Amino acid sequence: MNESVDISIVVPAFNEEGNIAELHRRLVSVLGGMDVAFDIIFVDDGSSDGTLLKVSELAEQDPRVKAISFSRNFGHMKALCAGLDYASGAAVITMDADLQHPPDLIPALIAKWREGFEIVGTIREEAEGTGGVKALTSRCFYSLMSRIAGTDLPRGAADYRLLDRSVVETLTGMHERSRFLRGLIGWVGYKKVFLPYRADERFSGTTKYSFSRMLGFAADGITSFSSVPLKLSAYVGAVVAMLAFVYAGYAVCIKLFTDRAIAGWASVLIAVLFVGGVQLIFLGVIGEYLSRVYEEAKQRPLYIVRKKIGL
Ligand code: UDP
Ligand code: MG
Repeated sequence: MNESVDISIVVPAFNEEGNIAELHRRLVSVLGGMDVAFDIIFVDDGSSDGTLLKVSELAEQDPRVKAISFSRNFGHMKALCAGLDYASGAAVITMDADLQHPPDLIPALIAKWREGFEIVGTIREEAEGTGGVKALTSRCFYSLMSRIAGTDLPRGAADYRLLDRSVVETLTGMHERSRFLRGLIGWVGYKKVFLPYRADERFSGTTKYSFSRMLGFAADGITSFSSVPLKLSAYVGAVVAMLAFVYAGYAVCIKLFTDRAIAGWASVLIAVLFVGGVQLIFLGVIGEYLSRVYEEAKQRPLYIVRKKIGL
């Protein structure tokens, strides 16, 4: 790429016009005081507001500011991956544009990296401005993930982290398309350490993650790290089949040894509905995995870059 720097900061930004200048100001004030060469790579994820304009204005004044602009919104994970693809630093720090990831933590991240840790992650301690529902769902998600996916994913692990060049090369060399970065980071190994931080409130704008997007994100995480849901269908199917056999035996006994007329309608209907429901659920599970195989097979690019600034 271009001349290498010590630290590249990668910032995905989707409609964050109100945060760009303030984030830049705070990054420069933190990093300027340290003896490191750095650049800041904004990844404009198809914003429809003035995000790209704000970034290009900054880039004119400060050559350390660089940018990639996507042709449309590809999502936070893809933006992070693009940032990693273009970053040239000996270490790369990824952080959100909304100042919920405090820049003041950067010296601590770098210090840990210099001690020899290749992944310096962060853990959100208490998230001001994230509502009760979000906190609860995120807790459920992390415990589910670590139980069924078997990757060590500390609860509250945030996408605010420092990655050594060797880790960046490993990640960018992966060919998976559904990049659930938090899981992959656990999967790749390397020497890791996690630092706690307190999430501030969003500086400007609103959250870009709706509940349905969070659900999609969780489904991505689980299906790309676990085949348990697929196996689950076999277990549930076996149990349901057993129950059906028991019920059939019962019906035969009634028929042979009693003269009670069976008012079969209700029981048959219930059985049909139940079995039908179970089958639909697991068709859905299989469909979910199949769609991922299909995504991989298409071999489309992860993202499309429309414009580059300074790269
Ligand atoms: N983001 C993005 N593309 C998207 C959604 C979000 O690049 O489709 C960026 C967003 O601009 C921000 C970061 O991802 O820098 C985290 O998003 P947000 O703050 O909305 O999530 P939250 O902190 O509420 O979980
Ligand atoms: Mg945020």
